[in-house]
Amino acid sequence: MSLTEITQQIASAEANAGRALGSVKLIAVSKVQPNERVDTVLAEGHRLFGENRVQEAADKWPTFRDTYGKVDVHLIGPLQTNKARQAMELCQAIHALDRPKLANTIARLAQEMGHCPDLFIQVNTGEEPQKAGILPAETDTFVAECRALDLPITGLMCIPPANEEPSLHFALLRKLANRNGLNDLSMGMSSDFASAIALGATHVRVGSAIFGERVTG
Ligand SMILES: *Cc1c(COP(=O)(O)O)cnc(C)c1O
Repeated sequence: MSLTEITQQIASAEANAGRALGSVKLIAVSKVQPNERVDTVLAEGHRLFGENRVQEAADKWPTFRDTYGKVDVHLIGPLQTNKARQAMELCQAIHALDRPKLANTIARLAQEMGHCPDLFIQVNTGEEPQKAGILPAETDTFVAECRALDLPITGLMCIPPANEEPSLHFALLRKLANRNGLNDLSMGMSSDFASAIALGATHVRVGSAIFGERVTG
């Protein structure tokens, strides 16, 4: 598929859900994609991308920004505390805030740097042991802890379990966000973004449907 097709599908999902056109942001997930593919999407005018590793973002985006000017990059993958500063310098949003230690580090750096990216708390909606994220039952407490640190928490993020109906997880994430007064919902990937939009996604993270299958090394 192409960027244009995905954009059209997002628009029709917005319309079907009775949502305003343009209310959903498309994060084009460029991780592990060859630079030529990313360049094509930039040349088409897209300016919001997702990366899941800080080092890869640092290798790629300064050069693209030299060519294309302002490009928003969201970190959607796990963040080690020792990479937090670099992530905060490079990225306009961090989608995987998933533990108190990281919250504390980001809060300290935000004080020092005088700015902080938008933050999404990752919720492990499927309660999978191997997956990052705050458990649903602990989400309210963690949101409150982050707010006490003055962190700009804008929303919640989830990655549903591979073999389950994603809409149940999207609905749970929305419920948790609503009751904490959070507006942004980062949910929905290539295979399920339409259903995520029906359930209130404000940010969809779409990689392979735009760029093609990832070529891993
Ligand atoms: C890779 C990735 C995506 C994009 O996945 P696709 O299935 O290629 O759309 C979305 N979210 C996260 C957290 C990812 O790591």
